[in-house]
Amino acid sequence: MAPSRFFREACFIGGEWLPAGADFIKVDNPATGRTVGRVPKLGRNEAHTAIDAASGAFPAWRAATADERGAYCHAFHDALMDNQAALAELLTIEMGKPLAEAKAEIAYGAAFFKWFAEEARRVYGDIIPAPSANKRIIVTKEPVGVVGAITPWNFPNAMIARKAAAALASGCAIVCKPASQTPFSALAFGVIAEEIGLPKGVLNIITGSAEAIADAFCQHPALRKITFTGSTETGKLLAAKAMAGMKRVSMELGGNAPFIVFDDADLDAAIEGAIASKFRNAGQTCVCANRIYVQSGVYESFAEKMSDRMRALKVGDGLDAGVDQGPLIDEAALRKVEAHIEDATQNGAQLVTGGRRHDKGGTFFEPTLLRDVTSAMAIASEETFGPVAPLFRFDTEQEAIAMANDTEYGLAAYFYTENLARAWRVMEALEYGMVAVNEGIISTPAAPFGGVKQSGFGREGSKYGLDDYLNIKYGLIGGLGK
Ligand code: NAP
Repeated sequence: MAPSRFFREACFIGGEWLPAGADFIKVDNPATGRTVGRVPKLGRNEAHTAIDAASGAFPAWRAATADERGAYCHAFHDALMDNQAALAELLTIEMGKPLAEAKAEIAYGAAFFKWFAEEARRVYGDIIPAPSANKRIIVTKEPVGVVGAITPWNFPNAMIARKAAAALASGCAIVCKPASQTPFSALAFGVIAEEIGLPKGVLNIITGSAEAIADAFCQHPALRKITFTGSTETGKLLAAKAMAGMKRVSMELGGNAPFIVFDDADLDAAIEGAIASKFRNAGQTCVCANRIYVQSGVYESFAEKMSDRMRALKVGDGLDAGVDQGPLIDEAALRKVEAHIEDATQNGAQLVTGGRRHDKGGTFFEPTLLRDVTSAMAIASEETFGPVAPLFRFDTEQEAIAMANDTEYGLAAYFYTENLARAWRVMEALEYGMVAVNEGIISTPAAPFGGVKQSGFGREGSKYGLDDYLNIKYGLIGGLGK
């Protein structure tokens, strides 16, 4: 590609660019294996410098009015949308997802800036009836301070946008550490910050050693909150460390989403929902359908229609027109997919379609449909994070709910039914942070995104999304007379 002005092989600290030196991280395009570029491999000291820069910018930023901060967030939104095509191309080149999905991700990320620009005006307090007549109890909300954000590779723009927009709108300064496999979409936020004239130090982007940067986040006294999106395994390590520094934490972690199709479902709608939920980002999203439960009465027809639909999916470089599924992020991802398929087939599952590395080579994999999958197989309990749709069979509603809840995760769940009473019953019975009925795509800035159980805690987006970035302050005014 002709490098756009958003492509920077440098970190953004205190409004200055720090180029990659002798110590760097190489970033490859998963579709071609070609090197996209290199970014600095920073450590603890540079992370401290970034936190200091954010800390220096924080007092003036928190003192700005909600309208002033909102205007910067609106400018962020507009800059993202005005440059949607260039930013999407950069995203596809470093991450692999089809260009149409990358464009949708830029729009999704931008929408959080717009949403929180408006929410910033509604950070209301309270006056609480006091126990005596000469006192007043006042509750106000204040920004937590400097926030450290750590994000994964599967949504290189949107996972930063969800956090940065909420932090900026609420009056916090932020230091972001993107995934090492996809840093360029994150660094593009630095370019935009510069272009819209965001005060220096309010937003900082650093790349480098995850552990060293996380240690700095956990130990630096000026850093008050850590917001993490990534695997449950890493989230647990980070949360334990963050507790040693008594930092506030939000954890958006892994999922193992059930997708239930009842006999009374609109089957065509369920197929389209399953395709959208399962194959977006080649199955590499935390809310991807990981286990598809189909009731006995429609099992055969669902399997047949699903396999027809999957055979039509076009696999290829995300930059090529009409591609539905790009490569997987790396060889390790490919091996996990293969291991899940092998375990399932050795234990009695049938391969309906796909099942092998794609002829295109590299990390491309065939869209794969498995049937007769059971709870004893690894795919039932682990996040596959790849293009494998496993079909489980069930007979009763109670059985489906029990199977769906039989996991340590609790992020997103989906089910299809045309029965209103069942819709309410099942929605309430599913132990998940988010439940979609008759829909395969669940995320929107207007709704609270987040999980329960081992999928973490905290909510991003919606009217609740600023809460994680605000402290509650109680003020007592006494001596007001009798
Ligand atoms: P990951 O391995 O946990 O990495 C996520 C981030 O953590 C990266 O920036 C990584 O940096 C960093 N990291 C690695 N080791 C660390 C450590 N010891 N301390 C602190 N940070 C560390 O996850 P991933 O494979 O990139 O992402 C996929 C996972 O994210 C899946 O489980 C998916 O479900 C989850 N996810 C959840 C949500 C949600 O909203 N709930 C959204 C998207 C994805 P390096 O890249 O430098 O190693």
